[in-house]
Amino acid sequence: MYTAIGYAAQSATAPLAPMTFNRRTPRPDDVAIDILYCGVCHSDIHQARNEWGIAVYPLMPGHEIVGKVTEVGANVTRHTVGDLVGVGCMVDSCRHCEACAADLEQYCLEGPTMTYATPDRVDGTNTMGGYSNSIVVSEHFVVRIPEKLNLAAAAPILCAGITTYSPLKHFGVKAGHKVGVLGMGGLGHMGIKFAKAMGAEVTLFTRSASKAEEARRQGADHVVVSTDAAQMKAAAGRFDFLLDTIPVQHDLNPYLETLRFDGVHILVGLIEPVDPALHAANLVMKRRVLAGSLIGGIAETQEVLDFCAEHDISCDIEMLDIKNINEAYTRMIAGDVKYRFVIDMATLKA
Ligand SMILES: [Zn+2]
Ligand SMILES: [Zn+2]
Repeated sequence: MYTAIGYAAQSATAPLAPMTFNRRTPRPDDVAIDILYCGVCHSDIHQARNEWGIAVYPLMPGHEIVGKVTEVGANVTRHTVGDLVGVGCMVDSCRHCEACAADLEQYCLEGPTMTYATPDRVDGTNTMGGYSNSIVVSEHFVVRIPEKLNLAAAAPILCAGITTYSPLKHFGVKAGHKVGVLGMGGLGHMGIKFAKAMGAEVTLFTRSASKAEEARRQGADHVVVSTDAAQMKAAAGRFDFLLDTIPVQHDLNPYLETLRFDGVHILVGLIEPVDPALHAANLVMKRRVLAGSLIGGIAETQEVLDFCAEHDISCDIEMLDIKNINEAYTRMIAGDVKYRFVIDMATLKA
């Protein structure tokens, strides 16, 4: 067993605080990893505070993990000691269902094992995430970090990156398509970069005109201020795809009207229920599709990392000392981060 240290919440109302715990001895297919960096995702806050009602305590968040392999089990073939690797939102799945067989572990029919707050499939212990100095994960769920990538900036690709890349790829965004990205936070700014790299003409939809210059810096060709009725009217019927990263309830109807016939509006945020209600006519009259997408499979997570290396894409990050994690949560809730906090795990030793 490894003695590990990390930051965990002991209850829904407790701030994150240091905790010592055990990581398992690597099984034959396991890789042990020294964690160097871990991104801070909005899901971490929802889970730490039990806002989805599925938290298990102690809860150690973190699913944008980058580190170095320190030990491998006897049957491991994909990774060796010293490799720079990543772990994203999942650490296991059933591995035999239709979804798993199609490299779509995120849709595992038996439910994937998430990186934290989920019972391990073998020993039933509660999984602990990446706000920690180490982790032990089956090699199938460990991806390779391409040499070209900055390690800290690569961490958010493992959740924010794959979450936006996967639907753009799946729904077939190609050169010449007009893609609208709704919202420019951690996910949205990655969506802009990916859509642009896929050759699309990219428009950011935002409530604040003040984000226009920053959106163009991120690669957007145009900006539509969604609170400006004239701008929304001018955008009607123009888009092939909308990548909707807005994390809170919002009216989908005005956005659907900006899609051309056969256009696809893709939700990646868990906004439920959709309120105000959908006007079915906004779908029916133009054969439009309202779709959803959850992270991406492991093979596709490797693909997005390689895509980022090839196209020189990384996440814009602010480095974080782990002792400031609770302040970072407060700032994230206020939208005060450009665009992702990444914990420098060297600060855990201090
Ligand atoms: Zn996440
Ligand atoms: Zn499965």
